[in-house]
Amino acid sequence: MERRPRPGAGPAVPTEVPLGQPTAARMYDEALGGKDHFAIDRTANSRLYGAIGEERVRNTAMENRRFLGRAVEYLSRECGVRQFLDVGSGLPTVRNTHQIAKEADPDSRVVYVDIDPIVAVHGRALLADDNTRIVTADMRRPETILDDPQLNGLLDFSEPVAVLFVAVFHFITDEDDPARIVRAFRERQAPGSYVTISHLCADGMAESEQQGWYSGFSGATVPMVLRTEPEVQGLFEGYDLVEPGLVRPWRWRPSDDGSPRTDSLLGGVARLG
Ligand code: SAM
Repeated sequence: MERRPRPGAGPAVPTEVPLGQPTAARMYDEALGGKDHFAIDRTANSRLYGAIGEERVRNTAMENRRFLGRAVEYLSRECGVRQFLDVGSGLPTVRNTHQIAKEADPDSRVVYVDIDPIVAVHGRALLADDNTRIVTADMRRPETILDDPQLNGLLDFSEPVAVLFVAVFHFITDEDDPARIVRAFRERQAPGSYVTISHLCADGMAESEQQGWYSGFSGATVPMVLRTEPEVQGLFEGYDLVEPGLVRPWRWRPSDDGSPRTDSLLGGVARLG
């Protein structure tokens, strides 16, 4: 499979909202029907829509978002998890992780992490709550997240923590070693913790759609990397996938949440024994 990460994507975390390039957070917001994006993001999404089809792209975003919601519901209601670390959280939208977790227990603690400073700008007002924090950091340097004082002031890693990497690893190149990133979080987690991952998957995806994802993100602040099913499966190393395993997100513990059905993503939840 051909991979075309954007050359020169550096490790520095931007401190100002990047206005000259589209960002994944704002493009995703636009695809979900949100309002926190700029013309440059709409232009990038127009390229995606032209190549892949607008309905398909929007359905992929929504299917992913519904999966995130069901995964957090499962973790909070059925597994009793009270601490969540949502990495690559994106802009606040409807049914955010902290809102779902607090439905199960108002004392649930949630830390959001995103490389895009716009997430903190828009999030701080909305998430003004003692048990919810937002950290601007780059998951390619996991220690900057795991050693963050704000995070450690809220989350207790001696107790189970659910780490969410939902629709974010397809922005991390092989050179940045996704397995190393997951391992860094796993090594900090206590037994009974969980990881949740969803990922755009090249297997079963038309060549034209693959090209569309690459060209849509070619000028963005983060690169795009589609992976095969075995590669996505490999990210769960050291954890045990819960039923139904790694599947198309709409098939993961489906409910009547109106999830669209595409075959562009894979998603799963796994437990640390
Ligand atoms: N997780 C949310 C969801 O699934 O609804 C948002 C997914 S959005 C498609 C991907 C997010 O990952 C964006 O907000 C983007 O800024 C963030 N991201 C990309 N690369 C990142 C990195 N290296 N470190 C932290 N966040 C990153």
